[in-house]
Amino acid sequence: MPKRILVTGGAGFIGSHLCRKLLETGADVIAVDNLCTGREGNLADLKENPRFTFIKADILDPIELPGPLHRIYNLACPASPVGYQRLPLETLYVGSVGVSNILELALKNKARFLQTSTSEIYGDPLEHPQKETYWGNVNCVGPRACYDESKRFAESLIINFAKVHGLNAKIVRLFNTYGPQMDLDDGRVIVNFLKQALSGESLTVHGDGSQTRSPCYVSDLVSGLILMMESGEAGPVNLGNPEELTIIDLAKMIKKITGSKSEIIFLPLPKDDPTRRRPDITLAKQRLGWSPRIGLEEGLRLTIPYIVGKLKS
Ligand code: UDP
Repeated sequence: MPKRILVTGGAGFIGSHLCRKLLETGADVIAVDNLCTGREGNLADLKENPRFTFIKADILDPIELPGPLHRIYNLACPASPVGYQRLPLETLYVGSVGVSNILELALKNKARFLQTSTSEIYGDPLEHPQKETYWGNVNCVGPRACYDESKRFAESLIINFAKVHGLNAKIVRLFNTYGPQMDLDDGRVIVNFLKQALSGESLTVHGDGSQTRSPCYVSDLVSGLILMMESGEAGPVNLGNPEELTIIDLAKMIKKITGSKSEIIFLPLPKDDPTRRRPDITLAKQRLGWSPRIGLEEGLRLTIPYIVGKLKS
């Protein structure tokens, strides 16, 4: 029987891809988003689908939704450093008050609940690559703390809420994700470099570019979310692509793929910028049978037409 599924943060970058994929499985999908960083335009192609509903609402307010709900994917949260540092209090409250409201909704509906946590809970990691057992290295009063601590608190809230109330709740930790529908102005590195390379502007590398990230293409990530939801696992489970590279190498790769003549310039490294990040995905492989399929070069090529289209519009 088709399921009724709520996606909070459904108008965001990953949320909109998830809604699309869930509709393909035959489910009824309700997307809730307050549009603080998400955009209704990300859902434009779904508007006519009779199994899709968009509700503009803030999960900081208790949500009344007519039941039943079988699954809740909780993605609502600003996710880029630029986005969450612009909205630090909203970010802290969404991981505490917001998550609490959605947990109550899950309990009322006896729905499965999945939280999208983040590699940021590992902070500037002293263990590499990062396994789920690593406790992290977070500056709780630094500029990234509103996001990191919000997500860390949320994990703790969910684990304990699930224990006390017997809720089927799951946690996945997402590593850097990219692809079409990313907000061109959210400051994230792949979108910045592609935008700059394609419009002939200088590529802005922070610091000396020796810091690393491990970017995962969005369709891989979304399939991991659904596998986790339908599994018997509670997590936390890392989801990401272990293909790690330095930011300077990313800049060079993007220049090469786009054939851009842009120069690379160096800007100051933001405070507390993690020096390296790479997921250990052994758990996801073993327990979910999941691993990413799309390599970085292919994923970038799949993303370029979207950026070109946005630059023209
Ligand atoms: N970065 C960069 N140039 C940019 C934007 C970001 O060098 O124009 C760097 C940023 O300082 C960080 C990495 O790229 O080291 C990834 O940044 P992003 O904002 O995408 O996400 P983060 O992984 O830091 O949350």
